[in-house]
Amino acid sequence: MNVVIYARYSSHNQNEQSIEGQLEVCRNYAKLNNYTIVHEYIDRAQSGTSDDRPEFLKMISDSDKGNFEGVLVYQLDRFARNRYNSAVNKRHLKKNGVRVFSARENINDDASGILMESVLEGMAEYFSVELGQKVKRGMKINADNCYYNGGTVPLGFKLVEVESSITDATGKIVKKKKFAIDENAAPVVKKIFEMYTNGYLMADIIRYLNKINIKTATGGEFNKNSIRNILLNKRYVGIYSYNGKDTIGGIPRIIDDDTFNKVQDIMFKNKKAPARARAKTEYLLTTKLFCGHCKEMMTGYSGTSKTGKLHNYYMCNNARKKLCDKKAVQKDYIEDLVVEQARNILTDENIKQIANKVVELANQEKDSSNLRRLNKLLKENEKQKANLLDSLKICNIDSVKQSIFEELNKMDVERQRITNEIVIEESQHIKLTINEVKFFLVQLRKGNINDIKYRKLLINTLIYQIFLYDDSITIVFNTQNKPYEKKIPRPEVLESSLLGKDALPDKGSLFIAI
Ligand SMILES: [Zn+2]
Repeated sequence: MNVVIYARYSSHNQNEQSIEGQLEVCRNYAKLNNYTIVHEYIDRAQSGTSDDRPEFLKMISDSDKGNFEGVLVYQLDRFARNRYNSAVNKRHLKKNGVRVFSARENINDDASGILMESVLEGMAEYFSVELGQKVKRGMKINADNCYYNGGTVPLGFKLVEVESSITDATGKIVKKKKFAIDENAAPVVKKIFEMYTNGYLMADIIRYLNKINIKTATGGEFNKNSIRNILLNKRYVGIYSYNGKDTIGGIPRIIDDDTFNKVQDIMFKNKKAPARARAKTEYLLTTKLFCGHCKEMMTGYSGTSKTGKLHNYYMCNNARKKLCDKKAVQKDYIEDLVVEQARNILTDENIKQIANKVVELANQEKDSSNLRRLNKLLKENEKQKANLLDSLKICNIDSVKQSIFEELNKMDVERQRITNEIVIEESQHIKLTINEVKFFLVQLRKGNINDIKYRKLLINTLIYQIFLYDDSITIVFNTQNKPYEKKIPRPEVLESSLLGKDALPDKGSLFIAI
């Protein structure tokens, strides 16, 4: 497997491992695991406060090129200074099929950092999903009343504020927005429909609109897409539409039914056969499933067999290059097995242990070295300021007084800067109770096993790595339990002759919006 090393040195921490030290540990780890190092990215912090990481950003963007499948770091805190960035960047890498490995916190050593990280990420994901549902409920209420629900306001419409029938917690009437006709732009929409029904081509309409300097609803130049969107938009005949439900007369009308239907007929006739879209499949074990033979990652593929049946499967990256004889495994089969085992480890006793450990670690982390450093700087600042004030009292020379004042001003600016940094640092530490973590883990045990979001959450939170052999499977969990090993009497593999020759890795569908 091709990997890159990312090393970062910050002078914040007195116990900091040097860049050379970090590289050595990572290089050894790579050697031990037969990884090929294709590049080393190194960031050296310039000062105690700067957090510029140009090489880190370069590494993230280089992952788009597909030249490596792993990023090796000395320990996980090298990866990002705060959790939010860490999650965003990890998703970016995962989308590219790239996994982050920690050379020091490997699972046989001390897995606690990994456990905390994965549980915190899982909780963030879980609770934002909940939040998403609340937002959806709000949008449903808007839709029932034909209120504006966000998004671009189509050309020819504007928004007006109205008093709604909804009251907030204090009994105040909530103001909402409704669609109204924009008298300046509505004639443009009418003109577009008129030209199209009179046989003008889209290119003619675009030329005409751009010539008289009319802009789209978002302020850009017209193109085929924007014209097509206008011609297909049911709102112009007064239909409010949300989530597949149409409300006729829900908004004011700009175009009459006859003209609109005529346009649809012409467009239907002109329509080219659409490209066959393939349903996107999500491979939940991406970056977690490894070949037992050669330890390479196994990547998700889909292909059609000679009989025309579509297969989704994972295949060893080396086997694909004919360098390994590991047979491919069916996606659903292996995912079902992993999901079931992940659920099984969430016993009452394990939930209790995980919750205690995660909260303990989160509390330890609160007292981070950076926070200690900042508090120390703040104390020094106060001490220096006190000294300056003392000398000001006994000073009689004006010019010296002046320079002391200047120094005091500088101290105040510095103090403000440190205080701001402390606020930022503190906001990045999550305050957790054992019951909160327990609640999350109990939910994680109870979810609907057929729900893809749930399956994903379960795998991401609990699974560290899976090695697939011919007759057995080893699942390594993020918990500190021993790796779980399962013998499969007859593993469900696919004969390579069944797989499509032109199958391509299914990337792209892995992106999870946050
Ligand atoms: Zn292999």
